[in-house]
Amino acid sequence: MSRKAAKKTKPSRPRAARKPAGASAPSGIRLPMLGDPHDIHIAREIERKVLEAKRIVVLGHERPDGDCVGSTVALGMALKALGRDVHVLLEPKLPVRFKYLFEPGEVRPKQKGQSTRRYPADLAIVLDTTDVDRISGLVPAQIAGITIVNIDHHMSNNNFGDLNWVDTSAAAAGELVYRLTSVLGWAVPPVALDALYTALVTDTGQFAYSNTTPRVLRMAAELLAAGVDGEELWRRLYLDKSRAELDLEARARTSLEVWANGQISCITLTQADFEKTGTGPQMTQEFPGIPRALAGSKLAVFFYAVNGGKDTKVSIRSVKELDACALAKRFGGGGHRQAAGCTIPLPMKEAKDLFRPAAEKMLKEHAALSTAGKSD
Ligand code: AMP
Ligand code: MN
Ligand code: MN
Repeated sequence: MSRKAAKKTKPSRPRAARKPAGASAPSGIRLPMLGDPHDIHIAREIERKVLEAKRIVVLGHERPDGDCVGSTVALGMALKALGRDVHVLLEPKLPVRFKYLFEPGEVRPKQKGQSTRRYPADLAIVLDTTDVDRISGLVPAQIAGITIVNIDHHMSNNNFGDLNWVDTSAAAAGELVYRLTSVLGWAVPPVALDALYTALVTDTGQFAYSNTTPRVLRMAAELLAAGVDGEELWRRLYLDKSRAELDLEARARTSLEVWANGQISCITLTQADFEKTGTGPQMTQEFPGIPRALAGSKLAVFFYAVNGGKDTKVSIRSVKELDACALAKRFGGGGHRQAAGCTIPLPMKEAKDLFRPAAEKMLKEHAALSTAGKSD
């Protein structure tokens, strides 16, 4: 029976039959190669580390998004299918909507700073993460003694690994996992195909952003051909919202304010907004798109309370002429040119007061540069 046909028979997804760890024949699908011809060199180095390791942990960044969860889960499953001893460790405040990607117990919740003695490893593969400080699951001191493989696509990645594969042309860390597994001929278990598709669809804004390359669409096509049900994943990712989530979205929309004559659009969610709706910051994955939708906005900002309101998370989105990453870096953050973020260790009002002049300055400098360009 095809996976799509099988899925219609019951609400929860059928799972691939799993081989126990150590199984010799890998189960799953070998995806067609769609990467760069040079991928094989770094892929072989990564494979050597994987084969040498006794115990592997796969890690992602704090406040995991679809790419973080999708890429870590997909790689973890591919490594398991290879017979490796592997644990995927992500923080426990994982958005509920990503939980369809793994069985209970498959991803181990791990608080930043908690002891890792239960999962001693000699190799950590870190995905979608710019810096060791952003790793959720293990604190830097705890991975200090073990080999780190850093696989990422952020321009602000600081090459923290012993082995680094940072390719800013990749739309998602999930793209790199696709390229790694396909160039090495590793089998990808069926549910890991969903995880890869999730990584691609979320980091490209449902195949809309400028990182939606022909290669990404080819990968998505191969995943669909291999049995991924795109509509079902779309429902799980973007629909199926609780009333509380829609109430939170309503608050976000009504909080809209504009700065710099409408060139900067912002929304804000305070700790009170989360408390009154019974929600939390992990339910806001798509919210940076709200201020971004305003006509004339060049810089869209979403401020929201984290750590019980003690800190403020800032999600920044920009038009291609502006460098959101440079702005985020001023506050210790990073990301991509058009999508970046930072956490300001101040409550909402103070954080916004600090951020606003920097954002307005960036707009002014950009306007001055464009005017100078026009008079040439
Ligand atoms: P967000 O602000 O969560 O919407 O993230 C936008 C992009 O910037 C994502 O690719 C994040 O991984 C990245 N990002 C967000 N916050 C940080 C940070 N503090 N340091 C480095 N990268 C970040
Ligand atoms: Mn991410
Ligand atoms: Mn990513």
